[in-house]
Amino acid sequence: MNFHILTLFPEMVMDGLSTSIIGRAMSKELLTIEAVNIRDFAENKHNRVDDYTYGGGAGMLMQAGPVYGAYQSVLEKAKSKPRVIYLSPQGQTFSQTMAEEFAKEEELVFLCGHYEGIDERVLEEIVTDYVSIGDYVLTGGELPAMVMIDAISRLIPGVLHNDVSAEFESFQDNLLEYPQYTRPEEWHGKKVPEILMSGHHANIEKWRREQSIIRTAERRPDLLEKAELTQKEKELAKKHLSI
Ligand code: SAM
Repeated sequence: MNFHILTLFPEMVMDGLSTSIIGRAMSKELLTIEAVNIRDFAENKHNRVDDYTYGGGAGMLMQAGPVYGAYQSVLEKAKSKPRVIYLSPQGQTFSQTMAEEFAKEEELVFLCGHYEGIDERVLEEIVTDYVSIGDYVLTGGELPAMVMIDAISRLIPGVLHNDVSAEFESFQDNLLEYPQYTRPEEWHGKKVPEILMSGHHANIEKWRREQSIIRTAERRPDLLEKAELTQKEKELAKKHLSI
């Protein structure tokens, strides 16, 4: 997978993504991350890439030309015509399902806005997906791009040490993950549930499934509507709904 990030702050995204698991995946060449500085495509000698908005109003807008130039520079290198994701509070809310869908792509372009955003005309021409990371407004698209790249990267085979660990996690099957414990066996007077030390895999799986259902009912009941539950599991969930 090749990620291309069109941004005014390349060091911000590269510094953030070059550490820990994603950094290791880059070293292992499981993925590449390239930040393209939109300012390198400024069309004036002062390197300005923003201007006042037509019609008035506070704040500056990123101009179409430099964004388009940055995008064209990616097209010249990309193996296939990439999807272009504009990080925007006006987009569809990012989810695990979307991460799974994007993880199937070979190339992805992330366009990070700043100031009041970007001239609509270039968005119309290059953007294929509008994605938000939540209903709040940030100062730029860099953090949302990093969030998305992190979530997508960990689904790429080989990025996590143990591929299985990406399989049984929150949002799989529309359930939250069950509680987990590590050593010591007792901490602050709290013991690890006995069943987890029984070595009985079938019972452990059963307990984990029940805990997932209880936790989802308590914390994210909205997810349960789409979860596939047996009649007995539905009754268990009902008992733990807080409303
Ligand atoms: N004027 C824009 C509006 O009201 O829709 C908001 C612009 S925001 C201050 C600047 C940039 O931050 C946006 O162009 C976008 O790239 C990014 N951004 C802000 N909030 C975001 C969110 N919740 N999800 C994704 N990107 C966001």
